Amino acid sequence: MLRVVKSSRKCMLVVLLIAVISIVGACTSAPKENGQSGARPAPAETTQPTAAPIPTPSPVPITSKITLTAVGDVLLHKAVYRDAAQGDGYNFDPMFDVVKPYLEKADITFANSESIIAGKEIGISDYPMFGSPIEIGETLKSVGVDVVSMANNHAMDKREKGVRAAINNWKQIGVTYTGAYESQEDRDHIRVIEKNGVKVAFVSYTYGTNGIPIPEDKPYLVALLDKETMSKEIRKAKELADVVVVSCHFGVEYQLVPNEEQKDWATFAANEGADIILGHHPHVLQPVDWITRADGSKAFVIYSLGNFIAAQELQEPYRYIGGILNLEIEKVQLGDKVTIEVKNPSFMPTYIDHQKWGKYQIVPLSYVTEQKLPGIGKLKPAIEERMKQWMPELQIENPTKS
Ligand SMILES: [Zn+2]
Repeated sequence: MLRVVKSSRKCMLVVLLIAVISIVGACTSAPKENGQSGARPAPAETTQPTAAPIPTPSPVPITSKITLTAVGDVLLHKAVYRDAAQGDGYNFDPMFDVVKPYLEKADITFANSESIIAGKEIGISDYPMFGSPIEIGETLKSVGVDVVSMANNHAMDKREKGVRAAINNWKQIGVTYTGAYESQEDRDHIRVIEKNGVKVAFVSYTYGTNGIPIPEDKPYLVALLDKETMSKEIRKAKELADVVVVSCHFGVEYQLVPNEEQKDWATFAANEGADIILGHHPHVLQPVDWITRADGSKAFVIYSLGNFIAAQELQEPYRYIGGILNLEIEKVQLGDKVTIEVKNPSFMPTYIDHQKWGKYQIVPLSYVTEQKLPGIGKLKPAIEERMKQWMPELQIENPTKS
């Protein structure tokens, strides 16, 4: 029966279509020209001037630009949170006073929240099982951080309850979190931040969680580096946004250059559609590079952003040097076609200033004197050279102390 109904409908449609074509055909085959009736055949086109054809308007390109800033590890060792202790709580604001203007000026600012902000109830603790005060999250928000990655090897330090507490705290503070999720539904919801008409998606992954297992029935709790999931999520992110930023917690601690594995992950992410890859974990800086995709287009990578605030071994200056990465993202829309370009990368090396395990403050590395850090005169240019070795156009920002 159904088929008959269908075919009789089809017949009616065909009849209708023929009718429409005949009417349209009748109209078009008898054009009115110079006010004359269509009854007479139109003169040959070559003998009489015709009106100039109306050109199809070509689409006008619409250009939008935004800035993205990224910093590395926010890893609160005891010396840092002890220094911030105030009354019943903590105040980390003074540590960020000098760098605040550089973080808040960007349209979108990213940070790696390495020690989870599970808060007092879960327990404030130092290495090797970190638990940080909520107040550091409030400070990050107040200096302009919009999005944090929670996918790192310390994510499970306070087990599942720690992840959930930290997520709740980020929600309450109003900072977008990625890389750790409270449910599969939460994980499936790709984070997209829109600024000035440019939509930027964020996904985050870590190589592992220091051997602390992620409950098998809750794999969404911490996002691990996995090609299949990355591919799926990056592709989904591409559908939702103009730009895809992939945060990768990878590499070997204290190595000054990336290893093959880091390069492989970054290349994989770029080929799947990542525009920007933000690396961290080594606790020291590693260079930036352009990754050329199979189709010839380019993605930006920084292999390690280094420590932004932390208190590791005092005798290791590299562990006190991080930086603020700045990128411009240009979106050009021409009709339905959107092109994205990551432009004008710049980098301001920073230093975690301190005195005898106290008085922590993040400052531009250019503020650091020989008296403060013997050997800085040679160290600073060496770091700059290393950062830009594969991208000579990287601008190094060295502000002078006002
Ligand atoms: Zn790490």
